[in-house]
Amino acid sequence: MLKPPIQELQTYYKTIRTRRMQLILKVQATAFRGIRDYLDNNGFTELLPPIIGPVTDPGIRGAKQVTIDYYGKEYKVMSSAILYKQMAAASLDKIYFFSPNVRLEPLETATTGRHLVEFVQVDIEEANITYEDAMRTAENLVAHIVSYVVDEAAPYLEELGRTLRKFRPPFKKITHREAVELLRSKGEKVSYYTEIPWEQEEKLSRMFDEPFFIIDYPKGARGFYDMEDESRPGILRDFDMLYPEGYGEAISGAEREYRYEKVIARMRESGEDPAKYGWYLDMLREGIPPTAGFGIGVERLTRYLCGLSAVWEARPYPKIAGVYSP
Ligand code: ASP
Ligand code: MG
Repeated sequence: MLKPPIQELQTYYKTIRTRRMQLILKVQATAFRGIRDYLDNNGFTELLPPIIGPVTDPGIRGAKQVTIDYYGKEYKVMSSAILYKQMAAASLDKIYFFSPNVRLEPLETATTGRHLVEFVQVDIEEANITYEDAMRTAENLVAHIVSYVVDEAAPYLEELGRTLRKFRPPFKKITHREAVELLRSKGEKVSYYTEIPWEQEEKLSRMFDEPFFIIDYPKGARGFYDMEDESRPGILRDFDMLYPEGYGEAISGAEREYRYEKVIARMRESGEDPAKYGWYLDMLREGIPPTAGFGIGVERLTRYLCGLSAVWEARPYPKIAGVYSP
């Protein structure tokens, strides 16, 4: 595990003028072009992301939401814009946005090398598709980004000393249960009923040399909006994609629960107060088509593309749990 270099992070803003940071930001900008190139050419419409609202994503794995005072009412800063993108896809069919998110992560995440308090994810959602379809979009997108960056950013990668290989989908899929069994066979203590902890996720990611999916998470592990499989109670129709070589989680995604009554039941099960979700439930009551989609964190993507030891190297002004910095 990494030690967070707290002192170094407090003055990390100075790295903006180093050659290394210039190279990283060039590769990152190339990746952004690759993302838009793929999505714009495949029928997606880019929208502006919401930044604040009355509610935000509660499925954030132990992190806390940020509350602001909005003219005497409570608003949240988006921990993810999941609820909004579902509604947008119901109108425009295939949508995406570059969504800035804030999550007050637990202090222990300062050492994972994979967590930022402030980050950006590209949020993608499509109407009338299954989670298998969403995974196809995800693997094609990632394969395209890698290939685009290898072609367009070759001199920067070379100067960074990073050898990046192109991939051809489909990527391997293992179920959450199989992932737990694999880890248990290596002596790791992991549960069938929760998300895989950071450390074990990294170990799992080291066992692969291509990006791969973990699918079918147990219900307790995710937000109320991931759809439960009717033929397999307790199992969700959702997925993560992990980068290989120990880089860990790249993407989370799912088919969404979109039926009013079921959403209310899932909210109650997960301890959410439906009264807080007025606008969202209103839209569901009117009826929306089923959607599926995923989010890909751009700093983790940059970390992988550039071969960085920690995700904070992918931002000139990183915010790490517990570290006070600009
Ligand atoms: N809301 C998920 C997250 O932020 C992404 C998704 O399911 O689309 O991890
Ligand atoms: Mg996730």
